[in-house]
Amino acid sequence: MVSADSAHIKPKVCKTCGNPNHPLEAQCRYCGGRLRVRMDWFCTVCIVLIAVTLLALAGYIMHHRVRMPSRPGAVEFIEPTP
Ligand SMILES: [Zn+2]
Repeated sequence: MVSADSAHIKPKVCKTCGNPNHPLEAQCRYCGGRLRVRMDWFCTVCIVLIAVTLLALAGYIMHHRVRMPSRPGAVEFIEPTP
């Protein structure tokens, strides 16, 4: 009996050497080259979006950290009057 499991899976063809690889493989087993995924551009957009979000968050935190100690009225409120 021949199992038809491998027939269902579409092989990922390496762009460097043209050999078929397992679709889940990230690296070509023949030439060792990286196997490009179709969602590559999507991942790049995601990474850029995450980076922009992190930068915005960092800028927001930094902005608030700088502002906090320079508040003139905050110091007076901490001291309680007996
Ligand atoms: Zn290859």
